[in-house]
Amino acid sequence: MKVGVLGAGQLGRMMALAGYRLGLELHFYTDAPDSSAAQVAPCVCAPLNDAARLEEFASGLDAITYEFENVPVATARRLAALNRRFMPPPPVLEMAQDRLTQKRFLASLGIPTPLFISVETRDELDRGLALTGFPAVLKTRRWGYDGRGQDVLREPADASQAWEWAAGSPLVLEAFVDFDREVSLVAARGLTGETVFYPLTHNVHQDGILRLSLAPAPHCTPLLQQMAEDHASRIFDALHYAGVLTIEFFERRGTLLVNEMASRVHNSGHWTIDGAETSQFENHLRAICSLPLGSPSPRGASAMVNFIGTVPEVRSLLEIPGLHVHLYGKSARPGRKLGHGTLCATSIETSRTSLERLLELAGCLEHIKAAV
Ligand code: AMP
Repeated sequence: MKVGVLGAGQLGRMMALAGYRLGLELHFYTDAPDSSAAQVAPCVCAPLNDAARLEEFASGLDAITYEFENVPVATARRLAALNRRFMPPPPVLEMAQDRLTQKRFLASLGIPTPLFISVETRDELDRGLALTGFPAVLKTRRWGYDGRGQDVLREPADASQAWEWAAGSPLVLEAFVDFDREVSLVAARGLTGETVFYPLTHNVHQDGILRLSLAPAPHCTPLLQQMAEDHASRIFDALHYAGVLTIEFFERRGTLLVNEMASRVHNSGHWTIDGAETSQFENHLRAICSLPLGSPSPRGASAMVNFIGTVPEVRSLLEIPGLHVHLYGKSARPGRKLGHGTLCATSIETSRTSLERLLELAGCLEHIKAAV
């Protein structure tokens, strides 16, 4: 079978590597030259709104998907009209691109989120702040990821500066959640409605970017896992979804509030490549190709650490016993995700020394030690 993927970053690269094992052929389409996935699979480089090139790309494909959510919705609709297996469906993509629409959708399903308010004028900001109190988080509705496009307002005096920073973009104001920790759920649904759920993952961020994932999230109760799965099932059913869905939650006193959802494979699911029976990448492909889904069971306790901005010396990484190293073939740039390493063991305690060495090499030992 032939699968087309819009976007060709590291998520696409890992998807291609998983697909080849199943005998699938992956073809990428991106507007970015020198992409990570283009090193391992055929790739068309053309504008994302080039109707003729898109049509040519879509011909002969059995399924089409995407690995980043900034695909123009018109492009998604055009491809969905050409191929019924354009998954996840275009309306999900539309929602993934707008934090306000997404939160309204979640609220309509009765899924808890932080208190949120639409803000388009300075007056609405002031009225919103009267409801949220301080601190509050002001976010652009669109184009925000990895902590970009948001500002924390700690006191009334911060409002003017935040308003200037936002410079006329449509916004959403959120109550600041004093969470115990951040967890995410990666789930997959097949075209026939079959679902699988990975165990909740504990995620630690630095400057808004994911640094460390621990899976299964330590001390996670079956009740919390069930809550997360119920939320995902409601989203799946409402959207006639196929593929992987990731939901990022704030955990607070035994409850879950959704921060955001992504209609794609996700960085917090990278541990599944080495630490689960079936990786998120493979299950995404199985789901959209109408193949049976694979077991999401963990193979033990995994710790995944991102390499951001620079890649540690590979020799030093490989000296860490049992470390699975994944490099994305990208050039170094501050804040850029260039690779990751995953440790799998019978427990986090067993791999503690190796994890500390990995965090040290990745340059985040001090920050992460304080946060975990
Ligand atoms: P986002 O880009 O919305 O995923 O936000 C990036 C990070 O900012 C999250 O992973 C949280 O650590 C933090 N954050 C976002 N929204 C809130 C909120 N309402 N309350 C507290 N922290 C937040």
